[in-house]
Amino acid sequence: MVVIPGLSESLSAVGKQIIHFNTTETLLSVEAAGSARGAHCPTCFCRSYRRHGQYRRQLRAQTLMGRSVNLGVQVRRFKCVNPQCSRTTFVERIDALALANQRRTVGLSGAWSAMAQALGGSAAARLSAKLGMPASRDTLLRELRRLGSSVTLAAPVVVGIDDWAITRGHRYGTIVVDLERRRPIEVLDGRESTSVADWLQRHPSIQVVARDRAGAYSDAAQRVIPHTQQVADRWHLLGNLRETVERLLLRHNARLREAAQLLVVAVSPLPQTQPAGADSVLPLMAWQKLSIDRRTARLGRYEEVVRLRAQGLSCKAIGRAMDLDQRTVSHFVRSGEYPERSPRGSGPMLLDAYRHHLCQRVVQGCTNITAVWHELQANAFKGSRGTVRVAMAHAYAVSSSTDTAGRPGRRASTPSAQRAYAWLVGWDERGNQVPKRAEHRQFVEALCAIEPQIAQASSLAREFLGLIHRRDVAGFDRWLARARDGKAPEIRRFAGSMTADLSAVRAAFESPWSSGQVEGQINRLKFLKRQMYGRAKLDLLRARVLHPN
Ligand SMILES: [Zn+2]
Repeated sequence: MVVIPGLSESLSAVGKQIIHFNTTETLLSVEAAGSARGAHCPTCFCRSYRRHGQYRRQLRAQTLMGRSVNLGVQVRRFKCVNPQCSRTTFVERIDALALANQRRTVGLSGAWSAMAQALGGSAAARLSAKLGMPASRDTLLRELRRLGSSVTLAAPVVVGIDDWAITRGHRYGTIVVDLERRRPIEVLDGRESTSVADWLQRHPSIQVVARDRAGAYSDAAQRVIPHTQQVADRWHLLGNLRETVERLLLRHNARLREAAQLLVVAVSPLPQTQPAGADSVLPLMAWQKLSIDRRTARLGRYEEVVRLRAQGLSCKAIGRAMDLDQRTVSHFVRSGEYPERSPRGSGPMLLDAYRHHLCQRVVQGCTNITAVWHELQANAFKGSRGTVRVAMAHAYAVSSSTDTAGRPGRRASTPSAQRAYAWLVGWDERGNQVPKRAEHRQFVEALCAIEPQIAQASSLAREFLGLIHRRDVAGFDRWLARARDGKAPEIRRFAGSMTADLSAVRAAFESPWSSGQVEGQINRLKFLKRQMYGRAKLDLLRARVLHPN
């Protein structure tokens, strides 16, 4: 008797033995037969010993020692002896080796579905060819689909529900995660209340639902399983907080710009040397210098235009040669002499008499607008704090656009609302972290000094993070009362939305459950989706998501 380890065991499980085999460098051909004396009819389950005939099933198996395996198995056909049975003949089943009507072994199917599950269709097809058990993309996906429909799961008790984009902005799906077992248990099409409610109805074992703050899932849970505890997800609470503060920052974008201009000067202060003339303090000098630089460049362009014009070139040709707007060229040509730029603004300004003092303070790196305003008021300044703020911001902006050597320096760049949020609210485990870098801290200080709404929102947001971290529900109740009377409408709206969903939000502080891990599973889902170039239908995606690799 021939024994091939790894193959003989599978064959003997269905009563077959290897008769002979033939091997080349890449292929192992095995013939097997058995001596089944009888078999059960698949329809009536009567055992029959009346042989009708036999034939050979051709099967493909997993590679063995780097060789593809072709398996020929003799199977017998029996006559059903039950006169009442609708079936006259039947073939002995070898399900442990290969399912009915399949031309591959169970082991090969398993290998293919594992590959398809890990890699998706195309990549698995490439790998399977490399491993000597080639299959087409479609075959592999069929195996995967078969796998997907056979998911058996324990009854879930604590679930997290969240949505994910099938096509962003158009079509969404819902993922349900068993939070206790830390694995996804369902992927649904749509995020409407009805589809989620249907699913919840089929799972009466659920006791806790962690969900986002959008209404659909809470409605579904409230309607179908009203006894369950709902937990607003902490991750989404933090997300809502971030959106709230970012919306506030977007509304105050002008303030961000002012604070950023203050910041650049604070980082690289101008040299402290004072010029001789009292009227020409440094920032104005810098501004004038910049202006002069610009004038010089413009004068150079003017002279070049005049020179080319004298050579007989047309305005259009000059414009093309010098990369200038044609209207600029004809303006230069027509004017006869260098056209000075018209000075901006007219008449004396309220601040003119105080500009020297203001610029001195800017040179010293002072960013305290209120202090400077009071100093000017002490010298009979009649203007508002706002006027001082604008003037100081301008002085900083001008002084910062030239560096100490007089070359154009880096400009004040306004941080995005997202970045400003990170600087304002960035936190450590205690929820009271200060911004990491000195310039960020200065930016935050300047921004808070300029805009009291932002200052309050920043402190409320930090406090909220700390409360969430400490799970301080009593502190949260006090916080909510203050936030409801907040200065900024965005904060008041945020507090209002939490009041409307109070029991779930309070549960977020008290319950150990949160759908943070759902976000992780969504990340995995998105990865799998992209791995199949975003073309996978929902059933394939579901098969890959629900089976942990
Ligand atoms: Zn029968």
